[in-house]
Amino acid sequence: MKRRAVRPFRVGIIVLALLVLQCWPSDAPNYSKRIQALLGEVKAVTDKQIIIKTIPATPQALQGHSNEFTDRIVITIMSGVSPDYDDALLAHELFHVILNSRGFAGGGIPSQDSDAGIAEADRQRVDQALAYFAHQINSCFSDELIDRETLKRGFNPKLLLDKSVEWTVEQSAAYEANEGDEWPDLGKKGQAAVLFCLSKRLSVASMHRIETALEPKLGLSIFQLERKLALQFRGNRCDINEPDACYQLTLQLRNATGLKGIILLRNPRTSVLE
Ligand SMILES: [Zn+2]
Repeated sequence: MKRRAVRPFRVGIIVLALLVLQCWPSDAPNYSKRIQALLGEVKAVTDKQIIIKTIPATPQALQGHSNEFTDRIVITIMSGVSPDYDDALLAHELFHVILNSRGFAGGGIPSQDSDAGIAEADRQRVDQALAYFAHQINSCFSDELIDRETLKRGFNPKLLLDKSVEWTVEQSAAYEANEGDEWPDLGKKGQAAVLFCLSKRLSVASMHRIETALEPKLGLSIFQLERKLALQFRGNRCDINEPDACYQLTLQLRNATGLKGIILLRNPRTSVLE
């Protein structure tokens, strides 16, 4: 019984990881004109040093990510897929810096007691999964906004999404039929949110491809929740000039997913976790 509980959750983390489309750049100074222009926008909003690190592109949870410190922002991105992909990924991460400076997305973390009642052996996996869900929910609407804004600046965010779809479909072959139906409740809710956030960014055809590959594996319950979220948030998206409304939308998504009290979001205005 314990094994059954652990394994599906582990798989869930892998699925989620592959679905992530976050952020990263590279370290050579020979950036394209469009990247240089975007770096100019970033420098106009922050005094922090921007450090860009690259890692080889391999199927993994996040294509890119950023860590902000008091004096610097370290962006780590996959690279080597293609020059256009590398630019799109770096642009995505750089745009997070711009959005953060405008008061978007304060961050998300699992609640301290969100794993209460979970066996010690499972706790680390649960913590990892919840950290992942928190990250996904926190950036759900801003990632979609970034797609629109980077497109305007000559980047092709679809390349990042295509890569995510490709890896997700590949990975899904390893799952057992309907195994998501046996996941703990938290895993189902978090996965539903991840799928919903992806659906906000993908074309109908790409989302259909994901559903066709994943639904027989994850089972119906996760997709039912995802469709409920899609209905509730149909047409909702963030405006570049309305960071407060964007944060409220993110809170609403967290609550609608059933993760209030389990995942905490940091209010970008007050820094309070709520
Ligand atoms: Zn992102």
